[in-house]
Amino acid sequence: MHSDMRPYILSETNWYTTKNEKFDLAVLPWGATEAHNFHLPYSSDNVESESIAAESARLAWENGAKVIVLPCIPVGVNTGQRDIYLDLNLNPTTQMAILSDLIDVLSLQKIKKLLILNGHGGNDFKIMVRELGVKYPEMLLGICNWYQILDKKQYFDNQGDHADEMETSLLLYLRPDLVLSREKWGRGTEKKNKIKGFREGWAWAERKWSKITEDTGIGNPELASAEKGKKYFDSLALKISGLLVEMCKADPGDLYE
Ligand SMILES: [Zn+2]
Repeated sequence: MHSDMRPYILSETNWYTTKNEKFDLAVLPWGATEAHNFHLPYSSDNVESESIAAESARLAWENGAKVIVLPCIPVGVNTGQRDIYLDLNLNPTTQMAILSDLIDVLSLQKIKKLLILNGHGGNDFKIMVRELGVKYPEMLLGICNWYQILDKKQYFDNQGDHADEMETSLLLYLRPDLVLSREKWGRGTEKKNKIKGFREGWAWAERKWSKITEDTGIGNPELASAEKGKKYFDSLALKISGLLVEMCKADPGDLYE
C-alpha cells in the first residue's frame, strides 16, 4: 500500500484494501457551506469536521478499532442564513433523506454502527436519529457535536459561536493558506434579541443571521492563534478517539450496566 493512503479514510482507500476488511463503525463528518466572518473560508466547518474525524480515526485505528471515515457532507441546514450571499441550505427534511439513505446502505452492508461527527450548529440530528432508530433498530446510531465536547474557556480568551477565536484558531492551525490576513478580520459583534427569554437563552427562536451580525461572525477572533488551535484540536481528537474505540468494541445488545 502507498504509505500516504490511510485505510480508515474512505475517500483515500480502495476496493483492493476494503474487500478484505471488516469495519465495525462508520464516522460521518457533516459540515456546512457558509460565510465565516470576512476572513475564513466558506468550507470552515467542513475542514474542521473532516480533520477532526481523520485524526480521531487515526488514533482509534492505532488502538485496533475498525473505523471508516465517510466523505464529509459539505452542505448543512442554513435556514437562518439563506439571504447571505452564497450560503447554501439543505432543509432539515432533505438532510433527513440523505442520512436515511446512507444508513440504509450501511445497514445492508452490515456496518451496524454510525457516529455523525457534526461541526455546524444548524444541523440538528437528534430527532432524525430517534426516528431512524425506529426504522433500523439493529443499528447503533450516535451523534457528536465536536464543538460542544470541551470547555472552550479552557482554551480561548474570547467566546463566540461562529467564526470566533476557536474557529479562527483551528483554521490557522489546519489551513493557514485559507485565512485572510489579520487586518481583514471583523469583530464578530452580535446583536441580541429584544425579547428577554430569547436573549437569556431559556427560550429559543432561530436567529436571523443577516440581522444579528455585520461581518457574519459571532465572537471576536482577534486573539486567535495556530498554537491555540493545535492544543484544542489535539484534545478533541484524543477524546473522540476514545469514543470511537468504545463504540467499535461495544455489543449493541449489551450496552448498559
Ligand atoms: Zn463554523
